[in-house]
Amino acid sequence: MTKGNINVSVENIFPLIKKFLYSDHEIFLRELISNATDATLKLKHLSNIGEAKSELGNIEIEVKVDKENKKIHLIDHGVGMTSEEVEKYINQVAFSGAEEFLEIYKDTAKDSGIIGHFGLGFYSAFMVAKEVEILTKSFKEDSTAVRWVCDGSPEFTLEDYPEKTTRGTEIILHIADDSTEFLEDYRIEELLTKYNKFMPVPIKFGTKTE
Ligand code: ADP
Ligand code: MG
Repeated sequence: MTKGNINVSVENIFPLIKKFLYSDHEIFLRELISNATDATLKLKHLSNIGEAKSELGNIEIEVKVDKENKKIHLIDHGVGMTSEEVEKYINQVAFSGAEEFLEIYKDTAKDSGIIGHFGLGFYSAFMVAKEVEILTKSFKEDSTAVRWVCDGSPEFTLEDYPEKTTRGTEIILHIADDSTEFLEDYRIEELLTKYNKFMPVPIKFGTKTE
């Protein structure tokens, strides 16, 4: 297991994100689905050009709400990430300019496009989650799955997770007490309709496929 600190310039940026983008909490779903979609389209492309050896299989993105345990799961079967890629793309967050950004945009935080432009897409998960887990296995041959966990402080843990044997990424959000509205089916359905109506990869929620 590795323990470390996410490379942020500001000590604990997450409460700041939460505060300034308060009205915009719901964008977490759009950001995470957009990452799952990117990962799936990358895999499809690699498969088309013969670089991904494994069968394409089911590429649906699945959203599961576990109301009892206050968790939301987002599962894709895209390219996944190796341990090195988690280090590079998740831990080394390009937070340069984040302070400036928050200063400039705090009054226009309702513009829901903004957070994504600063490469904070994945971290928008912390607007609704007190802890986020990533379980991911790269499409690359012989890659071991890994599990990354972070509670919203810059500290994370990263360890091998051989329990995951299927390609792709599962993001598990442990929903914070002030965000339990997102554990209601109707709320997720509303957001899926709003943000993801014409997505290039099918999204499964409950028994329905959007
Ligand atoms: P962006 O999507 O703008 O690059 P994000 O913060 O949303 O920024 O995501 C950071 C990076 O983490 C992505 O570029 C990608 O490399 C990786 N990533 C995030 N989610 C996934 C996923 N579901 N599958 C594979 N890689 C992912
Ligand atoms: Mg993104």
